[in-house]
Amino acid sequence: MSTEAPAPTTDTDLIADVAIVGGGLAGLSLAAALGTAGVRTLCIDRDSPAHQLGATFDGRTTAISHGSKKILEGAGVWAHLNGDAGPILDIRVTDQNRPTFLHYDHREVGDQPFGYIVENIVLRRAQFARLAELPSVTHLAPVEVTALDRGPTMATITLADGRRVRARLVVGADGRGSLCRKDAGIALVGGSYDQTAIAVTVEHEFPHHGVAVEMFLPSGPFAMLPLTGNRTSIVWSDKSAAVPHYMGLDEVAFTAELQARIGDWLGAVRPIGGRYIFPLSWQHAQRYIDRRLALISETIHAMHPIAGQGLNMGLRDLAALAEVIVDAWRLGLDVGGTATLERYQRWRRFDNVSLLGVTDGLTRLFSNDIAPLKVARGLGLAAVNSAPLMPLKKLFMRHAMGIVGELPRLVRGEPL
Ligand SMILES: Cc1cc2nc3c(=O)[nH]c(=O)nc-3n(C[C@H](O)[C@H](O)[C@H](O)COP(=O)(O)OP(=O)(O)OC[C@H]3O[C@@H](n4cnc5c(N)ncnc54)[C@H](O)[C@@H]3O)c2cc1C
Repeated sequence: MSTEAPAPTTDTDLIADVAIVGGGLAGLSLAAALGTAGVRTLCIDRDSPAHQLGATFDGRTTAISHGSKKILEGAGVWAHLNGDAGPILDIRVTDQNRPTFLHYDHREVGDQPFGYIVENIVLRRAQFARLAELPSVTHLAPVEVTALDRGPTMATITLADGRRVRARLVVGADGRGSLCRKDAGIALVGGSYDQTAIAVTVEHEFPHHGVAVEMFLPSGPFAMLPLTGNRTSIVWSDKSAAVPHYMGLDEVAFTAELQARIGDWLGAVRPIGGRYIFPLSWQHAQRYIDRRLALISETIHAMHPIAGQGLNMGLRDLAALAEVIVDAWRLGLDVGGTATLERYQRWRRFDNVSLLGVTDGLTRLFSNDIAPLKVARGLGLAAVNSAPLMPLKKLFMRHAMGIVGELPRLVRGEPL
């Protein structure tokens, strides 16, 4: 990675094949993938790396599916985690503390874990380390993108410090409120769940043995995700109106609330490293592309964390986009041309729409206390679980592992 611009044409212009607006987990991963293939790439973020690695920035973890791990391996990021990723060996789903379990054991689909739980800060650090190894990638941060001008053959990005970036393709990876999406006038559909997630990590007495648990409570799902060591990441979604009360509790009372929900399978628990809150909603963009623009990850889809799929979908977006870009680039074709971009949009739309639909349906079905729905849920979970190798259960497991549909080369473990 260079810290200054490659081959400026004027004092202020920076030139790249691809300019990525937004260096969150998705934008950084795309930069790493393109840089690994040698594509001249600029990744721009308004936040400084020091702030993004600080204690107050993001206390979340990500459940990285088996398919996403392959993408991060191919982009050269995974090696920089240095083993700091907790394998998920078992997934248990329970409805309101009832004994009816939906139980997924990774051995039913092969010898690989379903995925890994990784702290976002650990993932981000690994991404910065990877970009530093890549001579064709420039990471510009902190500097805000203030305007885009996307012409027929080239796009120009204006930065807050007055510099301009010229590129064949702009990739919008700038999150839910994306400037890039607004610039293209792309509409959204979406809604709120009236739920807020509290993310917190706990240390505990007994080992978790790689077991991830999702408990559906009427006020929202409560997830326990196994990190390395005797540590578990908690994603506690609750009614938004109740969350200020929980956030205001002192350490003893907050620990008691956590322990009451977790139960005794982990022994005594102790929160470490702060509490972080995230209001929950979903949204989907009407289109993923426009002239010299492709959008990825949360710029086009955001969802409830109930299934831990948001970034996994984003990583599949960028694996597909990186593939169409690299294919065009190797043939000397226009990486920002309409044919390249349409191939990307066609590829990703079905997977994203289906997962958004399933996630929204699950959230609404399980976040309530209506008696007939409770019965239906119990029967449904028992039915899916009762035949250990039935195709539906296997399909669910393969979805959780991110290995369904037309897989990009990176997901198949092949180089770009
Ligand atoms: C509680 C919770 C738990 C979750 N758990 C999981 C999970 O287990 N598995 C999973 O797959 N997903 C999970 N998700 C979803 C996941 O966290 C998101 O999908 C992911 O963080 C989105 O990353 P992103 O890079 O697309 O967007 P962002 O993280 O929003 O990054 C956007 C970046 O763009 C930059 N930016 C914005 N505008 C500009 C501008 N004008 N100029 C320059 N820079 C700009 C911002 O500074 C930011 O760095 C969870 C979400 C929540 C809320």
